[in-house]
Amino acid sequence: MTIIAANFKTNHTRKSTKEYLETVSTFIEDNKFENEIYIFPTATSLDEYKTVPNINVGAQNAYPTQKGSFTGEIGTEQLDEFDVKTILIGHSERRHVLGETQKSIASKYEYYSNLGYKIIYCIGEPLEVKEAGLDQTLTYVWEQFEGIDVNYDNLILAYEPVWAIGTGVTATTSDISNVHNAIKEKIDKPLLYGGSVKVNNIKEILNVPNVDGALIGTASWNAVDFCEIIKISNNL
Ligand code: PEP
Repeated sequence: MTIIAANFKTNHTRKSTKEYLETVSTFIEDNKFENEIYIFPTATSLDEYKTVPNINVGAQNAYPTQKGSFTGEIGTEQLDEFDVKTILIGHSERRHVLGETQKSIASKYEYYSNLGYKIIYCIGEPLEVKEAGLDQTLTYVWEQFEGIDVNYDNLILAYEPVWAIGTGVTATTSDISNVHNAIKEKIDKPLLYGGSVKVNNIKEILNVPNVDGALIGTASWNAVDFCEIIKISNNL
């Protein structure tokens, strides 16, 4: 079953998230679509949402703590309030814009995997590494698995080349397949592709062998587009 995930980043309010989830939930129910859907709203938009069972609302980020003195962060006490048991870890914006190190990512991963959370773990190389070639790309990606237990049961991986995220530049199907095949040879977990996935390219991307779904930023913010993506992925 194809996995489709929506990363809202710093977009949508609690009100518009509620409307969005109602729209997507009704669409899935009416069409009896069965994909596994993950939606990551902002932390301020987490709430007790009623959705169809195949929609899972997760956190874009949280600190590895129950509670404490970590200004600006949230922990499991805040996630438990809304029964959130899914988290995105290692997203490129957290690595490259917010400065998370592999060490801090690994300790977050360890904390949330010990609690049994569903983890979508992101890896992907910046442009200069891609330009240096496939060997360098794979070396870079393997380093992003340092300290990460890839045998963890509740793990989904997302390959998201940094140069393709939010840029409108999608990786070619051969770029995707080179990296996905290499990862799948070593790690037997669902593997999503992310990076400028849109309504008009989702079909081609999901048809690449070893692509089990997509993690979508920009194109997911519009509920109508996201519904269309769900429809296309169900009809494959
Ligand atoms: C993302 O944020 O994970 C992402 C893939 O963004 P976009 O679809 O906008 O490239």
